Amino acid sequence: MSAQDSKMWSVHYDIVIVGAGVAGSALAHALSTLPREKGPLRICLLERSLAEPDRIVGELLQPGGIAALEKLGLADCVEGIDAIPVHGYCVVLDGKPVHIPYPNGRTGRSFHHGRFIQALRKKAKAARGVEVVEATVSELVGCPITGRVLGVRATRKEDGAVEKEAFLADLTIIADGCFSNFRSSVVGTAARKPELKSHFVGAVLENAQLPIERHGTVVLVKGSGPVLLYQIGTHDTRILVDVKAPLPSDLKSHILDNIIPQLPSALHIPAQKALKADRLRRMPNSFLPSTEQGGRHSKEGVLLLGDSWNMRHPLTGGGMMCAFNDVVILREYLSQVDDFSSWKEMSSLLHRWHWRRKALASTVNILSVALYDLFGADDESLEVLRIGCFKYFERGGDCVNGPVSLLSGIIASPAVLFWHFFSVAFYSIWVMFTHPHTVTSADGKPIQIVPSIDAYPYLFIKSIQVFWTACIVFVPLMWTEVRWW
Ligand SMILES: Cc1cc2nc3c(=O)[nH]c(=O)nc-3n(C[C@H](O)[C@H](O)[C@H](O)COP(=O)(O)OP(=O)(O)OC[C@H]3O[C@@H](n4cnc5c(N)ncnc54)[C@H](O)[C@@H]3O)c2cc1C
Repeated sequence: MSAQDSKMWSVHYDIVIVGAGVAGSALAHALSTLPREKGPLRICLLERSLAEPDRIVGELLQPGGIAALEKLGLADCVEGIDAIPVHGYCVVLDGKPVHIPYPNGRTGRSFHHGRFIQALRKKAKAARGVEVVEATVSELVGCPITGRVLGVRATRKEDGAVEKEAFLADLTIIADGCFSNFRSSVVGTAARKPELKSHFVGAVLENAQLPIERHGTVVLVKGSGPVLLYQIGTHDTRILVDVKAPLPSDLKSHILDNIIPQLPSALHIPAQKALKADRLRRMPNSFLPSTEQGGRHSKEGVLLLGDSWNMRHPLTGGGMMCAFNDVVILREYLSQVDDFSSWKEMSSLLHRWHWRRKALASTVNILSVALYDLFGADDESLEVLRIGCFKYFERGGDCVNGPVSLLSGIIASPAVLFWHFFSVAFYSIWVMFTHPHTVTSADGKPIQIVPSIDAYPYLFIKSIQVFWTACIVFVPLMWTEVRWW
């Protein structure tokens, strides 16, 4: 231990959490409520900036996330922040909407991210035994002999503060988000690299009218990824435009010329105004499968939580729900641990946590990327699947209830997801054979025709390609979730 650290020996916590975002704030509050004979846990929550964040992430919380918030005693964090109840989704293809309500009257909430984070932080600050410190963590403090992580070193955000302080604890939890600096230090060689799928470019529309109010809206546009819209305040509606790499050099013109004309007409003027008035913000949309922690590759004394550990495409708005669900399970398991410094006990806990969270996390992860591949279709087979998926939703009943229950965390089951995904694939093939599609007539006009028997041999070959594409989309994703090393 360096001389610099030794002055901090008196500040020893049970748990240090890095990052007071979605996961870190919820966990600090959750752990403060653990019933313990020895008195409340001493928890240090370190956050580089306690100012209200202004980001284009984490603005729609699915019903499954609301249920997790309730379990954590944090349900009131969506009160008093001008949050909007969300009753489901509306998917628009070629100007035609399909209604996808959440089942049984369940609702989610959408809001300004910063307001929600401040509400979570307020709860953490008021929690017993929690000390919230505004400081930027720069490194993990490791035992020079065993390599075990003993805490972190951080610089306080105070005028003139340059000295790094050590914040030591029996257990260090890293929840520093999607750009985590500590991911590979914690899980070592087992760390995977986030796979960049696309970017979301965001702006806020004023007083916009969505096709179905209080519903998340997904517009499927030609030649680009989907556009997502949801109301985040009485007068504010978020627009997120999916753009694949390489990003156009003039993003504003790209969106104005190629994307806005494909949105429902009521959105054209608010979207044009927002683009002119607002600074466009963008975020990478990455996929990062979770790595099992606590094994031989991982550092002892430390674990990852939230986006630092596991990410999915934000198209389905599942990140916060997964983070809260992880906190619910982790809290339950940590309540059974007497001594956080016993790594044998922690290791077995991490193993159980990893597999138990999978029911929800794997469902949401696979669905988000598979749906993104279909909705952002960039080849002919994916286009068939995209149309088939839209028509599957149009059938209503279980073809809507099943997928939306998976997306919203009401059903957590990769097996049910498998069933619906391949039902969509087979239905897409059926649609290809039996539904009218647009072709150009001899005089150059678009006309709708149903394929004749002569086209069947070609369609049969195309069906094999479509089915193969569905397998290529789904099976590798499933594999990332079930692999155990
Ligand atoms: C474009 C986009 C849109 C999204 N939309 C949604 C959505 O609508 N619904 C949804 O559920 N999910 C959404 N997500 C995902 C969601 O935002 C994340 O899953 C969620 O925020 C993860 O929470 P977290 O606590 O891991 O990270 P964060 O919420 O990002 O928190 C990390 C915290 O750590 C702090 N920090 C970082 N480094 C340090 C350091 N060195 N020292 C101290 N503090 C540090 C940061 O300041 C931050 O406060 C979206 C993601 C993207 C990219």
